[in-house]
Amino acid sequence: MRDAERNWARNLTYSAAVRHPGSVDELREAVEGAEQVHALGTRHSFTPVADTSGLLVALDRIDPHLVVDRDAGTATVGSAVRLGDLGRLLDEQGLAIANLPSLPHISLGGTVATATHGSGDGLGVLATLVRALEVVGPDGGLRRIEGDELRGAVMAYGALGVVTRITVATEPAFDVRQDPIGAMPWSSVEQHLDEVFAAAYSVSLFTTWTGDLRGGLVKSRSATGPTEFFGAEVERRDPAEIGADVKHTEVGTPGPSWDRLPHFRIAAVPSVGEELQSEYFVPRTAAQEALAALRGMGEDIDAALHVTELRSVAADDLWLSPTAGADVLAIGFTWRDLPEAVLPLLPRIEERLLPLGARPHWAKLFHARHDRLRRQHPRWDDFARLRDAADPGRKFGNPFLAEVLGS
Ligand SMILES: Cc1cc2nc3c(=O)[nH]c(=O)nc-3n(C[C@H](O)[C@H](O)[C@H](O)COP(=O)(O)OP(=O)(O)OC[C@H]3O[C@@H](n4cnc5c(N)ncnc54)[C@H](O)[C@@H]3O)c2cc1C
Repeated sequence: MRDAERNWARNLTYSAAVRHPGSVDELREAVEGAEQVHALGTRHSFTPVADTSGLLVALDRIDPHLVVDRDAGTATVGSAVRLGDLGRLLDEQGLAIANLPSLPHISLGGTVATATHGSGDGLGVLATLVRALEVVGPDGGLRRIEGDELRGAVMAYGALGVVTRITVATEPAFDVRQDPIGAMPWSSVEQHLDEVFAAAYSVSLFTTWTGDLRGGLVKSRSATGPTEFFGAEVERRDPAEIGADVKHTEVGTPGPSWDRLPHFRIAAVPSVGEELQSEYFVPRTAAQEALAALRGMGEDIDAALHVTELRSVAADDLWLSPTAGADVLAIGFTWRDLPEAVLPLLPRIEERLLPLGARPHWAKLFHARHDRLRRQHPRWDDFARLRDAADPGRKFGNPFLAEVLGS
């Protein structure tokens, strides 16, 4: 099969051909005429969540056409727009969205359909920014969803239809400065986890579970950065070194939030490139227990790992959200591209974390399936009812969703 039909990590090959409709009308016709169909974003998920045996539709040839509503404090845009491109478009209007994940390469549609998030005590998953969706249903009809129904419909993994346009909350454009920090003793996290994450707009910590934490990124909405950070030194880089770094976003100087909140530049390959990922969202109240449990298997994890990123995400009320009802510590694993070493670790990790209330990121590799996951999500049955009403024939179903959602 052609490269174009694989995901970004190349750990899976999609089962169907990809169609790129040039207009919403063409998309509606394609959906109406297909037996099975699923929306595809920029293919950065590690699980077959976007797959289908029928027809894959990518909306990247439909004009994103940004419409700003200053009175409402929102902007509406085509779902295929990449986050980095949305950042620039909004910046031209003096606007921004509050939060971004580590990479700007992914589509807004894929971002909000999954639990995509960045870091920040006051920042929820990006789906919390959504104020309305326009969705093509199984009969090709186009429907606008807003208000209460959004809480069930926004993070739907493509299971309710194909989202064509998304309205997000905006705020005035703002600058962010990011400062890298060096090694941090575990005692800082053990004794001051809340203060560490509260110390800046966005804080990410990196560890390989053995020895000290490796370091982190502190992102502030102020012109000056920290001078010391909980026992870690703030790295001051040579401007020549900063200019030469084509992969990572700029450090040490304030700049537009859309360019500093992501760790990676849109023009470069993000992260390691040869990798798999998993991530678990642990209620903050259980964070220390979770970290201790993982450190207990630190050498086994380290053998298959590039790096773990620890982030903080605010609670929300979205039905399938892994951050519903609790502020969380997000524990993300960037694994080496060694499925035979990684996959056996996942049930071992989940045995330790799920009893603490942890929920996996469904766009990244995990082991649990619907019987276990249902217990972690209080609004599970409400989502099932919404799905039965929106797509009774499961036109937007796929084998992954059948295993995870149970039908
Ligand atoms: C290098 C790397 C770094 C990452 N960093 C982060 C991070 O910092 N934080 C984080 O949370 N995640 C991160 N991820 C995971 C990523 O955010 C998710 O995989 C996200 O879903 C990718 O969006 P996409 O556009 O590639 O979606 P795809 O992978 O193409 O699709 C994902 C899901 O979204 C649905 N979808 C896409 N478009 C639509 C639409 N128009 N209508 C309805 N459903 C739609 C698909 O059907 C599918 O269910 C990272 C992934 C990689 C590869």
